[in-house]
Amino acid sequence: LTSKLPDVGTSIFSVMSQLAAECGAINLAQGFPDYDPPVALTEALVRHARTSGHHQYAPMPGLLRLREAISHKTAALYGVPAPNPDTEITVTSGATEALYAVLAAVVRPGDEVIVLEPAYDLYGPAIRLQGGIPVYVPLLAPDFRPDWNRVAAALSPRTRLLMINTPHNPSGAVLTAQDMATLAGLLDTTATLVLSDEVYEHMVFDGQPHYSALQHPELAERSFVLSSFGKTYHATGWKVGYCIAPPTLTAEVRRVHQFLTFAVSTPAQHALADVLAEAEQYQTLPTFYQHKRDLFTELLRNSRFDLLPAQGAYFQLARYHRISSENDLAFAQRLTRESGVAVIPVSAFYHDSHDQGLIRFCFAKRDETLQLAAERLCQV
Ligand code: PMP
Ligand code: GLN
Repeated sequence: LTSKLPDVGTSIFSVMSQLAAECGAINLAQGFPDYDPPVALTEALVRHARTSGHHQYAPMPGLLRLREAISHKTAALYGVPAPNPDTEITVTSGATEALYAVLAAVVRPGDEVIVLEPAYDLYGPAIRLQGGIPVYVPLLAPDFRPDWNRVAAALSPRTRLLMINTPHNPSGAVLTAQDMATLAGLLDTTATLVLSDEVYEHMVFDGQPHYSALQHPELAERSFVLSSFGKTYHATGWKVGYCIAPPTLTAEVRRVHQFLTFAVSTPAQHALADVLAEAEQYQTLPTFYQHKRDLFTELLRNSRFDLLPAQGAYFQLARYHRISSENDLAFAQRLTRESGVAVIPVSAFYHDSHDQGLIRFCFAKRDETLQLAAERLCQV
């Protein structure tokens, strides 16, 4: 068999988690918390697991009560008209499935898709599997903000889709209302659609708001907006996310979703529907994660790592040029083996493995875990 993705190896997240397990290292690599979901959510799951009738296929677009809860939350949080649960909201198997379903639904062979790099590792390969052509526009260190002139220059009549991710993995960069207005202006006369990956919507620091593509009316008209309950409820293993898009776009996503997974775990959807109305849980997340960012920064103050600014998500980028001149993959692997802390080499977020001597730490960990990791990192 000739591979459809001959240049693609195993995802860096699997590779580094496996190495961390082999070495008994603290895993600050793959992005997941080492604490559990809120008790109200796990208790709700147990309750629904014990409820007769909650074990068969959910409706294809998602449980209606969960879509209604998503609709209410979105309207309340972003001050936008409530998305219609019947025609504008689809529950997916994590944001991962939503990403793939959107790309499969809209990208045709030869279509161009603009991707701002560094980018989540799925984007490029999933575009290419549709026969699409990723067109990469770099975000530049240290703040990884988009240069909209370069984005404008990358647009062509063949640009089917433009992908944004705010707050951004791996840099934590956050797009502003002005960014969204600029983007809307650039696309005004085009037929280009937007995929806005907002899985870290509740992790923005220093009092800055998260600005959703849904809040810009013209952008919302051409956007698929994705979120993930895995991030919001410390439950990455549940694999439940969703896509909000106008009815004509949602209809296309569902054409794919029905043949990709058909539906998502029924008891998990019931449990999430029970807790979603409690805004307090996600309202505390910015403070919760800002504390972790600040603690981790403080703990590494006397290390030889240089930390980059981190405005959102749950990642911290660092340069290690005062420690080593190895490439980032070699350094990440050696750090895991010799110092007992696993991290992600940022080159994994570039289609050409562009190496800038940068690694990514995930700080979604208990304070004790961050302390222990920092003790080790300060000795490097
Ligand atoms: N997009 C980004 C930017 C992510 O970081 C992640 C999670 N690593 C996903 C999508 C996938 O989300 P999920 O775990 O809900 O599939
Ligand atoms: N989103 C997570 C990260 O960036 C990993 C998800 C995965 O393992 N596929 O670390």
